[in-house]
Amino acid sequence: MLDTPAYATSDASSPLAPFTIERREPRAGEVLIDILYCGVCHSDIHQVRNEWGGNSLYPMVPGHEIIGRVARVGDGVTAFKPGDAVGVGCFVDSCRSCAQCEAGEEQYCEKGMTATYNGVERDGTTPTFGGYSTRITVDQAYVLRIPDGMPLDRAAPLLCAGITTYSPMKHYGVQAGDKVAVVGLGGLGHMAVKIARALGAEVTVLSTSASKREDALALGAHKFAVTREPDTFKQLAGSFDFVIDAVSAAHDYNAYLSLLKTDGTMVLLGIPDQPVPLAAGVLVMQRRKLGGSLIGGIRETQEMLDFCAEHDIASDIELIDIGQVNDAYERMIKGDVRYRFVIDCMSLERTQ
Ligand code: NAP
Ligand code: ZN
Ligand code: ZN
Repeated sequence: MLDTPAYATSDASSPLAPFTIERREPRAGEVLIDILYCGVCHSDIHQVRNEWGGNSLYPMVPGHEIIGRVARVGDGVTAFKPGDAVGVGCFVDSCRSCAQCEAGEEQYCEKGMTATYNGVERDGTTPTFGGYSTRITVDQAYVLRIPDGMPLDRAAPLLCAGITTYSPMKHYGVQAGDKVAVVGLGGLGHMAVKIARALGAEVTVLSTSASKREDALALGAHKFAVTREPDTFKQLAGSFDFVIDAVSAAHDYNAYLSLLKTDGTMVLLGIPDQPVPLAAGVLVMQRRKLGGSLIGGIRETQEMLDFCAEHDIASDIELIDIGQVNDAYERMIKGDVRYRFVIDCMSLERTQ
């Protein structure tokens, strides 16, 4: 076993603090990865603080936007060799035999995917620990290849924020010329803007933060509107083919549904801790649709990485040392993120 520096929390109300975990030498089919960077997703905050119905397991080492280089490989590994730049996203295993796994939609595994952290391995007992650490051992079938030339720190957020926004746009068939609204300009939202733009959509950012206007346009949005101004909802009523909701806190879905055209679709990506009442009329009257979407499968995640490389897309990041992560959480909760915090995991070596 390899003693590995990490950052963990011991319960829902404590800050993250130095912690040591054990990683294993790679077994047959597995890859040992030296972690270089890990993005900070709002899902890390929800789970660290036990905001999702009490499902949090402690001690918890968060982090599921992992970038690193292969250190060693186990027997029979053909897809990767030492030195390769690789990524690990939100899950590290699944049952591999259900209909969803067979279809390459492992995130919807009927027996439950093995989450990269806040989960247990397929043995049902070994806890999983995430990317706020310096190494991880993962089966090669759940490891992504980072395209040559992609900046590794700015690639980390693609492993969750990138695939979470790419997958529903592909699933619902966003096309050139479609009018797409992105609600919430945070980690997911800013990736949604870049990807929708690359697909040829006309992109509008709907934000609570007037100060993000310039950034939104620089990220590729065509238009920007502040949702705290009441006229925004009147002016934009019935305008969009597709609304991508990437907001982390509870808010009124009905108001955003009213912005869809007839037959338009709103897809929920954010998972607030509180339920929100839904008025049937806003769907019924214009045959609108409301959907949800969870990250994406391994095959589609690789497709997204290759798409981003082809379109010169990476995340806009603020690189931090691990010691700044608790402050980063507070800033994200205030909506003050531009547009993803990424941890330089080498800084963990200095915490031990
Ligand atoms: P983030 O970087 O913190 O961004 C969230 C954004 O939502 C904020 O920047 C802010 O944007 C807006 N916002 C925050 N509080 C708000 C409020 N009270 N009312 C309206 N808008 C508010 O978060 P993230 O990492 O992108 O994650 C967003 C959500 O998606 C989280 O709930 C996360 O757990 C979830 N998630 C889901 C999946 C999935 O597979 N479905 C994957 C990853 C994350 P403005 O300043 O522009 O308003
Ligand atoms: Zn995430
Ligand atoms: Zn399965």
